[in-house]
Amino acid sequence: MTEKEKYVKICPQCGSTNIKIPPAGMDIKMTQQDYCTDCGFWGMFPEVKESKIKEFKKQIKK
Ligand SMILES: [Zn+2]
Repeated sequence: MTEKEKYVKICPQCGSTNIKIPPAGMDIKMTQQDYCTDCGFWGMFPEVKESKIKEFKKQIKK
């Protein structure tokens, strides 16, 4: 039996998982981008397994 691992978007800048996804359907021409509610980072967020969040945070340089 394999357990499903949950993937979470994580901020590459501060390691926060408080990622906001803007509501879709405003303007199709505009690219919907996620943003970090903690540091305001805006762009591409990598997805990591929930169990790897701690590891990911360790890799972030302050
Ligand atoms: Zn952030």
